[in-house]
Amino acid sequence: MFRVMRVRDHSRDHDMKMKICPECKKYTLKDLCPLCKVRTVNPHPPKFSPEDKYGKYRRLIKKERGIL
Ligand SMILES: [Zn+2]
Repeated sequence: MFRVMRVRDHSRDHDMKMKICPECKKYTLKDLCPLCKVRTVNPHPPKFSPEDKYGKYRRLIKKERGIL
């Protein structure tokens, strides 16, 4: 069980180095997408936690409901 968790942590650490192309949504280690020649972005910005994202989403739904 512990071994699995360690492996997971390692893969997550590896993912931090991965970037995603905003155009084709492909993961790459490069700063520029070799296909689209656009700047790749970090798929998991440390600024936003999943909780914050969820809260933002909920607020957005609330707002939309208010309009409708
Ligand atoms: Zn691309």
